[in-house]
Amino acid sequence: MDDDERLRGCAVCVQITQQMERAARECHRSEETDARVKLRRHVREAHGRELPWPVW
Ligand SMILES: [Zn+2]
Repeated sequence: MDDDERLRGCAVCVQITQQMERAARECHRSEETDARVKLRRHVREAHGRELPWPVW
C-alpha cells in the first residue's frame, strides 16, 4: 500500500477533501483555504507527511 492509498482510506482525509471540493465548486474561497489548511495539518499530524500545495 502506498501513501496515497493510505490517505484515501482515512475518513478524516476523505471528509476534509470533500469539504474542500464542495467549497471550491461553490466558489467559497475562504472556506476552501480553510479546509486546505486543516487537511495539511491533519496529514502532518496523523500521517507524518507534508502535502505539497497544489499548483494552479
Ligand atoms: Zn488522514
